[in-house]
Amino acid sequence: MRTRIASPLAETAAGAIAADVLRSCVHCGMCNATCPTYHLTGDELDGPRGRIYLIKQALEGEPVSRLTQSHLDRCLSCRACETTCPSGVEYHRLLDVGREVTAKATPRPWAERVLRVAVRAISLHPWRLATLMALGRPFKALLPAGLKGKLPTRVAAGAAPSRQHDRRMTLLKGCVQSAAAPHINAANRRVFDAVGVSLTETPGVGCCGALSFHLDAPDEGRALARRNIDAWTALLDAGAEAIIVNASGCAAFIRDYPDVLAEDPVYAARARRVVSRLKDPVEVLRETPPTPTRAPREPRIAVHQSCTLRNGPALGDAPAALLSSLGYDPQPVADAHLCCGSAGAYSLLQPEMAKRLRTEKIIALTASQPQTIYTANIGCWMHLADGSPVPVRHWLEAVDDLLDKPA
Ligand code: SF4
Ligand code: SF4
Repeated sequence: MRTRIASPLAETAAGAIAADVLRSCVHCGMCNATCPTYHLTGDELDGPRGRIYLIKQALEGEPVSRLTQSHLDRCLSCRACETTCPSGVEYHRLLDVGREVTAKATPRPWAERVLRVAVRAISLHPWRLATLMALGRPFKALLPAGLKGKLPTRVAAGAAPSRQHDRRMTLLKGCVQSAAAPHINAANRRVFDAVGVSLTETPGVGCCGALSFHLDAPDEGRALARRNIDAWTALLDAGAEAIIVNASGCAAFIRDYPDVLAEDPVYAARARRVVSRLKDPVEVLRETPPTPTRAPREPRIAVHQSCTLRNGPALGDAPAALLSSLGYDPQPVADAHLCCGSAGAYSLLQPEMAKRLRTEKIIALTASQPQTIYTANIGCWMHLADGSPVPVRHWLEAVDDLLDKPA
């Protein structure tokens, strides 16, 4: 597709990224086949091809309307469209540029601005979320349905391993996850201890920046990215083997750090080094699988493929394959390419679309009557658990269940 990006964007690294992506699109529309929002609305402008057109117009200097912004807002950033594009169009890279340009050109209604500021305030300070959850849990039964689901039942974290191993890796604590589900990181540490890896959280590393970046505060997201890069760089220099991120949504944004910091060549280079050492825990465990000390108590499971693990790193099947090798019996799940509707803050910002997608996903996940549903991302975990008749857990918990706990 021919394009002429307007100045001054044309002279920037972001403009170059956008022009490259636009040129690679041949406008065939095959991507619409796997787009969850096009699947729901049937509107061309709610599919990737239509959104690419809208972004192209905006970047070429055409006026941007609220309608354009709303079609871009409805995109889940799930990247399912990229898996069916025959031309290898990296749609998500264009979307990030397009969203930043439209956000600057089109003021949002105050209610949308307030919600976005509130979500960012929580991601920057997870203790605020932990406090709100602690205050809300006793009154959960009295809360409206939309809020109840944001209060997952607290799970005991269990004992932490005390052994020191030669292999050392660092773990992203996370913002929402550290407040809502600290037991997931605890399970990750025990499982890695069982395969001879010491896993520690890095002081100075916090939120990955995705929520800020995607909620109209890109410079705040960039500042968080730089802070994390500095802390991880020091740790890699000191001999850490890898950076482990067990929330696949956070990992997806960290993989984009080189683009996010494209205008800053020094940090973009540091970001590339960080990304080269970034691993999902399943990548470590499939190379060094743990030895179970017991059989699964509830072996019949369904494994949800988080979009951020499936589309991009192409690891969607990996957790189910690992759990199968450890004695679980993962059931087939239809339409794995369709997002569950969680997508960062999407379930808060686009509740109707998110609910419809979740309903479809839960029908697919429970069709084979699993005893438990497993996922690889805190956002999917919270969103699915809110509507599922079957318990939802992180897949690391399934591995942890098969191992002896540290004394
Ligand atoms: S499938 Fe790829 S090339 Fe075709 S319209 Fe979609 S993004 Fe463009
Ligand atoms: S990222 Fe997902 S929701 Fe957005 S256009 Fe692509 S497939 Fe559709």
